[in-house]
Amino acid sequence: MMHVKRGLNLGGYRGETIDIQGVLREIEIVAAGRGWSQEVMREAEPRLIALKRLWPNAARRLYLSAGLHGDEPAGPLAALELLRQDAWPADASLWLCPCLNPTGFPLNCRENAQGVDLNRDYLNAKTTEIQAHTAWLQQQPQFDLGVGLHEDWESHGFYLYETSHGTHPSRAEKAIAAVSAVCPIDESPEIEGRPAVHGVIRPSLDPRLRPRWPEAYYLHRQQVPLVYTLEAPSDFELPVRVQALVAAVWAIFE
Ligand SMILES: [Zn+2]
Repeated sequence: MMHVKRGLNLGGYRGETIDIQGVLREIEIVAAGRGWSQEVMREAEPRLIALKRLWPNAARRLYLSAGLHGDEPAGPLAALELLRQDAWPADASLWLCPCLNPTGFPLNCRENAQGVDLNRDYLNAKTTEIQAHTAWLQQQPQFDLGVGLHEDWESHGFYLYETSHGTHPSRAEKAIAAVSAVCPIDESPEIEGRPAVHGVIRPSLDPRLRPRWPEAYYLHRQQVPLVYTLEAPSDFELPVRVQALVAAVWAIFE
């Protein structure tokens, strides 16, 4: 019965919540034991941290973020699970922001504690979270691939957004195939008002249509060739959503 919608999410996310500071402590411990180093992006409590594992001769630079929305617990849990599984490609340097909205999780709300949707603040950031995050991003080298972990409380299955410069082969279908082994795919022809094909949305990137930038748009404008926003369906059991995100990340990074 793990793979049926539970019908809990009436008007918003009504599922499990997490102790985000406990999850972050676990993430820091596991990461330290696997050779990751830690940086503090914002010192003010609750701190914003980033993790890195860099190789001098890395062929690729992979970036992953989670926890931008405080009512999407599968993202930080998937980050922890990815660190535990430690199946990262051997040729890649890695950057991970495990939780970008630490004040949203205790409130189980999408926005931060001040009521701002952080994933709409990436153009001329006004929040200290995204100011710190974009300042940190600007100090990093060019990434080859970016992935953001999210959930959608009203979707019928897993889906993803791909923002591409068209210079690298898509990994979207590979990710969908990997996820379909653990979680249903949202087969709707339109998701969140955008045309979708077998769980893949390739949004228009006209900035005039999108004045409130999400992280994916910022990364795209930073010339990251391929950016994926993964959306696990929040009306399914939490372990299924975590597994779905983990399966998609391994498929995309492979
Ligand atoms: Zn989200």
